Amino acid sequence: SADVSKLDAYWMPFTANRQFKQAPRLLTQADGMFFRDDKGREVLDGIAGLWCVNAGHNRPKIVQAIQQQAAELDFAPPFQMAHPKAFELAERLAQITPAGLNRIFFTNSGSESVETALKMAIAYHRVRGEGARTRLIGRERGYHGVNFGGISVGGMVANRKMFGSLLSGVDHIRHTHDPARNAFSVGVPQHGAEFADDLERLVQLHDASTIAAVIVEPVAGSTGVLIPPQGYLQRLRDICDKHGILLIFDEVITGFGRTGNPFGAQTFGVTPDLMTVAKGITNGCVPMGAVFAQQKIHDAFMTGPEHLIEFFHGYTYSAHPLACAAGLATLDTYADGDLLTRAARMQDEFAKALHSLRDEPNVIDVRNIGLVGGIELKPLDGQPAKRAFNIFLDCWDKGLLIRTTGDTIALSPPLIIESSHIERIIDTLRGALRRAA
Ligand code: PMP
Repeated sequence: SADVSKLDAYWMPFTANRQFKQAPRLLTQADGMFFRDDKGREVLDGIAGLWCVNAGHNRPKIVQAIQQQAAELDFAPPFQMAHPKAFELAERLAQITPAGLNRIFFTNSGSESVETALKMAIAYHRVRGEGARTRLIGRERGYHGVNFGGISVGGMVANRKMFGSLLSGVDHIRHTHDPARNAFSVGVPQHGAEFADDLERLVQLHDASTIAAVIVEPVAGSTGVLIPPQGYLQRLRDICDKHGILLIFDEVITGFGRTGNPFGAQTFGVTPDLMTVAKGITNGCVPMGAVFAQQKIHDAFMTGPEHLIEFFHGYTYSAHPLACAAGLATLDTYADGDLLTRAARMQDEFAKALHSLRDEPNVIDVRNIGLVGGIELKPLDGQPAKRAFNIFLDCWDKGLLIRTTGDTIALSPPLIIESSHIERIIDTLRGALRRAA
């Protein structure tokens, strides 16, 4: 695709992808389930852009809303000022959030939502006179964006090892006894719930009175599509409750219909104290993120003598008018197509098709929830991630966009997916798996 010699000015590592000496593939248009590339080829989008374009591409209501907003009000400062759509969007979101998470703080990305939630958790304890609660607990193989807080609580050592000590007082819940394997992937439905109990070990090690919050993704995406068994998240909730620790769900990818309900918390029946979202909040059309907080957290910050909010935090572009307009139109689009629960209706068909790949060459595990799929491959000897990448390239040549996370192929198609698209995704993948063998 692109001329490699032109890569030098714009060099986001993932885009340049020098690791495999690849030039980026250029996308020039999109509509519904499809991208179009610079050669005019149609490419089926198997990953909703990057887990974000949940309603499909270029939806007319969203496009019009952004255009109209740009012409009407381009910007409103978020300090001492606001604009009506910021309140309107927060109200609308509060109607679909899990129980009690009805206080909404806007950011511009998933990474910013994570930093915001971590700061809220520490500040919450401090304003209540529990200032010693500053520790944060993440999880091995968690992913929470790329800012300093996020890589500290994140479990991807490769993402943080060159940046020094990062946040102090961070620890990680163990995910598995065998680092080479995913503890949730052995095909036994309840296997792995006991890994939640490792949180109890950390509580004893550090003393509960020093711990502010635990942060986990209900379903980890970027670290290989890890779907917890029933009971795992509830066990984390119980341990947090017992010790006065806040529980944060990072729903940047599980939010907005991905697992069959508006949010993963609803799918797993566990309600966190704070929730981070981004991506699907605007259908990926304008950068935006948010933190959903329980009323008690909001109230703790509001009780100062003059209702001075004791939480200094916010971004120039928090609740940006374009993002709010896009967010409102996105919620309308989700409602029009009943999309926030559509993954639950498509789940069985998607799962059946996905699991038909179980016996293809080098497949060691297939897992799914809602419209999320993971196909874990046996790595090429001495070349981790390479086999999956080869399959990614083959699929691209055949007009299908997938994502690889290490040696796991991740699928998260737009929620408007129809049977014919599922067939095309699975046929293309089957061919690629066989050719790669
Ligand atoms: N948290 C999770 C769970 C994510 O999957 C991601 C992005 N893939 C992020 C945070 C970071 O989001 P962003 O790239 O918008 O900063």
